[in-house]
Amino acid sequence: MLDAIIIGSGPAGLAAAIYGKRANLNIAVVEKEYEGTGQIAESSCVDNYLGLPGINGYDLGEQFRNHAVDFGVDFIEHEVVAIEKQPGGWKLAFEDGSSKEARTVIYAAGAQPRKADVPGEDRYIGKGVSYCAICDGAFYKGKTVAVLGGGDTAVDEALYLSDLCEKVYLIHRRTEFRGAAQCVEQARKKANIEFVLGETVKEFVGGEKLTAVRLNSGTSIELNGVFVAYGSKPQTELLRGIVALDDSGYVVANEDGRTSQEGFFVAGDVRTKTLRQVVTAVSDGANAITSVAEYIKIGAIGDGV
Ligand code: NAP
Repeated sequence: MLDAIIIGSGPAGLAAAIYGKRANLNIAVVEKEYEGTGQIAESSCVDNYLGLPGINGYDLGEQFRNHAVDFGVDFIEHEVVAIEKQPGGWKLAFEDGSSKEARTVIYAAGAQPRKADVPGEDRYIGKGVSYCAICDGAFYKGKTVAVLGGGDTAVDEALYLSDLCEKVYLIHRRTEFRGAAQCVEQARKKANIEFVLGETVKEFVGGEKLTAVRLNSGTSIELNGVFVAYGSKPQTELLRGIVALDDSGYVVANEDGRTSQEGFFVAGDVRTKTLRQVVTAVSDGANAITSVAEYIKIGAIGDGV
């Protein structure tokens, strides 16, 4: 039986794997996509990972993965379809009918930003369409952008971008905001933020790069970039009824990754936290496997080993 099975090969899962190998734990990483590195692969530039300025997300993911491969981490390329608690550990069932058992699980399957789901979106991802202002905002210095949505993320991102960009449109389908009133007020006071309310984007348009958005009312706004802030969706469908989730579906856990279930740990974007970034995912992975090592050590003492 493995000491730990890590679900997800993004920065959180791979950091957990490296720390696990160094701690001499018997571990494996399960990944759905062959040689996956998670959401990071889609980021055109990760300018905020310490020591590697300007690196693109794909290359950073590759470096993380190579690091894990060099440490001899075993990868299992399967989709997990069920997770079951068993005496002394956990059993994972895969899509092909096979299964694997481990004393502990680290769940690091990530979260996906909700897409706008309108024509042109996929075409302009990385060429004008982004889902993270902290990650990609710097590319739009002095330019015109729009933020879509009316939650805390949208308002925060509009404020953040207003310090970088010449002009920021905040496009929201209602006239009321879900985001904190105080921040909405702050945004209203910013001379370079223009509220476009009661509107949604109908289409992303451009040539090689995004140049405008067409709105449902028929008008268009010319711009260089759009930040979709329609919230994110944690990949936790499999965990319903197994561990405690918050109202948005994130696994409830602190930095140590311990969940409501003994022997089940969580790391990365799928955990309840305020800042979902590569650096916090990596840190979560290291913390979660450290909790695993402690859990196994205490279990071993309890077993009289
Ligand atoms: P959110 O609260 O779910 O807001 C998503 C926004 O996107 C809503 O305004 C929603 O419109 C809009 N939206 C979603 N789908 C849409 C569609 N298809 N077309 C048009 N509009 C659409 O997500 P979030 O802002 O990422 O926040 C998630 C959680 O994190 C919240 O609990 C939030 O408070 C928290 N958070 C807190 C902070 C902070 O405290 N500083 C920062 C970020 C996030 P409607 O309003 O019309 O539904």
